[in-house]
Amino acid sequence: MRPYSIDPEAIAGWAAARGYRKLLLQAPDGIKRYAVEVAEELEDRGFEVLLSASHAWGGCDVALAELAEAGCDALVHVGHHGPVRFRAPENVLFVPAYSTVEVEGVLESAAAKLSSEGVRRVGLLSSVQHVHQLERARRVLAEYGIEALTSKSPDPAMPEGLVIGCDARAAEKLRGSVDAFLVIAGGVFHALGVALATGAATYAADPYTGRVAEVGQMARKAVARRLADLAAALEARSGLLIASVKPGQRVGWSRLESLRGLLSRRGLRLRVAVCDDVTRDALQDYGGADVYVNAACPRLAVDDAGMFPGPVANARELELVLEKGLERYEPRYALLPP
Ligand code: SF4
Repeated sequence: MRPYSIDPEAIAGWAAARGYRKLLLQAPDGIKRYAVEVAEELEDRGFEVLLSASHAWGGCDVALAELAEAGCDALVHVGHHGPVRFRAPENVLFVPAYSTVEVEGVLESAAAKLSSEGVRRVGLLSSVQHVHQLERARRVLAEYGIEALTSKSPDPAMPEGLVIGCDARAAEKLRGSVDAFLVIAGGVFHALGVALATGAATYAADPYTGRVAEVGQMARKAVARRLADLAAALEARSGLLIASVKPGQRVGWSRLESLRGLLSRRGLRLRVAVCDDVTRDALQDYGGADVYVNAACPRLAVDDAGMFPGPVANARELELVLEKGLERYEPRYALLPP
């Protein structure tokens, strides 16, 4: 059995109803191997299926250019809830890939830990792979006397309880109403976002390893790095402005120009580098820069700051620091899209 529920029948039904025969299948790296099985099952139903070999970092990273280049009728994007910050064309289907891994074990550990630390009310959130398990999680927590509250991002495409790397607004809404947050997801990426967005104690419950971890120390380390990089950005005289072409990370030329203008008035001259995936090699090939101003995925500066050959500042984060001063920096600025 696949560790993710991906229903080829539903994909086939959607495509057949619209007359699509040639499909491009895109999935995040961890799900690609199961996408191959899905491709075979779709081929058995008479579809022609091409695999996208690109990364699919989020619902912002949708292979529209490949779809056009490969001459496919439609794109099936597996692993994310829906489009992030762009309007997807009608021939794109999002298939969330819900996890079939049991969550009871890790939730019992999380509930015991929260209980021992005096948490009575928790904000309960998850990655898209686990949103269908939130009700079960709520029941497990209730058995330990912990009340679980959920909330929803203002983004209508995001279901109740979902957080993504650059949208933890569901958690922000619960700030002040809960003692701590509990995030069900593989790894600590989503929990770290919640900790930065809320400043509250946040626990990551990973159903794949069974581990429960409080991410406060990780958040403090990330903030220290952000402050050091932003201080360097304020002193910088030249830099590279990184602009993404990914559909949900793209910012218009006028936004880039106004950012450049603002920073140039502060003495920072920026050259624009356009890219798809941001890589150290690509940045290094252009030689050094005093600072990298990132207008692509904001989590690159948080989780992958070491990839940049110099200090990195997210575009919106830097603007807010210029407006309010570094001493009034709030960690949630690090998650804001450009
Ligand atoms: S911009 Fe980054 S954090 Fe946001 S959805 Fe895309 S990959 Fe995820």
